[in-house]
Amino acid sequence: MTFSDLNLHADILSGLDAMGFENPTPIQEQAIPIILGNKDLIGCAQTGTGKTAAFLLPLMHKIAENEIPDDTIDTIIICPTRELAMQIDQQLEGLSYFSGVTSIPIYGGGSGDDFAKEKNALAKGTHVVVGTPGKLISHLNLGYVKVDQLKHLVLDEADRMLDMGFHEDIMRIINHLPKERQNLMFSATMPPKIRALAKDILQEPEEINISISKPAEKIVQVAFNAYDAQKVDLVKHLLRYNDIPSLVIFASRKSKVRELTKALQKEGMNAKGISSDLEQSEREAMLREFKHRSLQILVATDVISRGIDIDNIDMVINFDVPNDAADYIHRIGRTARASSEGEAVTFINEEDQEKFLKIEELMEREVRKVPNPSSIGDGPEYAPRKRNGRSNKKRFYKKRR
Ligand code: AMP
Repeated sequence: MTFSDLNLHADILSGLDAMGFENPTPIQEQAIPIILGNKDLIGCAQTGTGKTAAFLLPLMHKIAENEIPDDTIDTIIICPTRELAMQIDQQLEGLSYFSGVTSIPIYGGGSGDDFAKEKNALAKGTHVVVGTPGKLISHLNLGYVKVDQLKHLVLDEADRMLDMGFHEDIMRIINHLPKERQNLMFSATMPPKIRALAKDILQEPEEINISISKPAEKIVQVAFNAYDAQKVDLVKHLLRYNDIPSLVIFASRKSKVRELTKALQKEGMNAKGISSDLEQSEREAMLREFKHRSLQILVATDVISRGIDIDNIDMVINFDVPNDAADYIHRIGRTARASSEGEAVTFINEEDQEKFLKIEELMEREVRKVPNPSSIGDGPEYAPRKRNGRSNKKRFYKKRR
């Protein structure tokens, strides 16, 4: 299938061409006709599947086709983080080069000046507003946001937003919007609380599910059983014996990011740590450096694991096993984006074995455990169930095979 088969507006097709998108991804093939058909939609899809363009393209098509004036807010997209808001806005900007669809990102953490600029844009109107819940509700409460002509609402990464405690803000935003509108909701996971939110917001939605809990096939996944004290040496080993121009290392806590960055820098590695503690301008500068490859190693918390659009990462290292199995999928989704291949390496210490087994169960796939290099020495034996006083993990795999 090509994008022309999806009957998109010629200006949108030109934008796709300029962005170098040749063929629709599976979620785009499925979602675009539903959205063009004005149906509500719930989409279960992780980042890396092309879900952003899956909702942007048909919405932009409708704006172009219906010649919506650019002082009308046609669409509000709510997403969990400012990075994701910026990224969605940037993708829209790229795709809309020929169609003239306008947008503004609205996110927390900016200065008073930013707030005034946002206020001006929202009062004047723009086709698409992309924002985080807290910031959007602050503006909506002040009464100048022109939402009376709004036709579309998108909730992106809904599971993440609920985890971050945004439920009330989302419902408050919705109270400001016209009742007649099309609603699209995307979520990486579909727990009961997401089903409940969908029931509250969506009207007879169509449902699509893009290989939930299955990372892209192109990602080569391996794991090392390692004691904490062995992990920095393992990173050094991987860098010494592999050509890894671009590496993201994930750690679960900010303190760990700081500690690990220091340890890597002490070893002479070109590494910097990014976390929600940094000023936004610092985070942006660091991401730019990383994208341009003057920075080789980015050490990060999960805050940036979702939604950040960094292409061509050669390897993701999970310095520890994330608490949430879905976070593992998001973390490793940073590599092997639409057209590239990538590798994901996880370090499993003795406490994290049970968590890692849960991830393997969710993916219905056993990740290959690679023996530690002899210079580093053996790590703990991988026997999560036995360790937990229950049946041995072998039983689980036997059952599945
Ligand atoms: P997303 O899942 O929306 O975060 O998109 C993942 C990455 O794939 C982004 O870098 C997009 O720019 C890229 N992408 C999305 N759709 C396509 C497509 N049809 N062809 C090539 N790249 C795409």
